[in-house]
Amino acid sequence: MWDSFWLSFEYLIKSLRRAGARPLHPELGGELDKEINSALWNFIRRDTSVAKFEAWVYAHEAALSVALGAELHFRLIEMNYADRYQVEDMRQQLEAHLRPALMCECPAVADEDVIAMGGNGRDGRFFASVSECAMPGDDLWWLWLGKCQTCHTDWLIAQEERIYDDFFVARLTSEQADLIRNNGQWPQRWLTYEDVLRTGRALSRPCRFVEYIAPSLLWTVEELRRARPDITVAEMSEFLGIEESHVKDILKYQRS
Ligand SMILES: [Zn+2]
Repeated sequence: MWDSFWLSFEYLIKSLRRAGARPLHPELGGELDKEINSALWNFIRRDTSVAKFEAWVYAHEAALSVALGAELHFRLIEMNYADRYQVEDMRQQLEAHLRPALMCECPAVADEDVIAMGGNGRDGRFFASVSECAMPGDDLWWLWLGKCQTCHTDWLIAQEERIYDDFFVARLTSEQADLIRNNGQWPQRWLTYEDVLRTGRALSRPCRFVEYIAPSLLWTVEELRRARPDITVAEMSEFLGIEESHVKDILKYQRS
């Protein structure tokens, strides 16, 4: 008898704990839940300023305490928002709390983000639900419009597999995506390979090539010069992440 008493007591405690992490009242589900989730992910992926997030936290105390549970909510209101280590740690705690409920990777991807090819598996998670729904044409072979089949977010995607091995992605509004789908009107973004590489230089790191005259380097130099014949050696060295003398050797090899 005592056994079953303790079992049901334990069950009751566990249920209460579980309930603490979820909306208890139907009126807190739906839209508000969505708003809370979206604001928390915005903070986790750095799409909102820390100051703005802090103000938002204090304005949503009741709903947050239900959504996060008392313990995590307490840490969220007690933390020092001026301490970047605490802020970073809180991002990780919130992500650990929210990630199990993710239906697709989109909420965790920033409005402008870099998704490395291979490696940590983030590309696999993202492309599990994001698929191609438009391409601008063969001359812009690196660019495409992706749509998440789960949450319906539209993404502009530049696939850079020569120098940086990254996908550069930008979240689009549904108006921007409609312009692409219906009018073939693409945003002024990544319309040249030079612009793609500029993003790579700003947000990522170029690959190191084992082969001195690597085909990827040759093709890229060719691509850059075709689009803008007066591009300088210094500019190409910057975009490709190689020495100017290396660019000159590639140019010499191409002429030979
Ligand atoms: Zn999605």
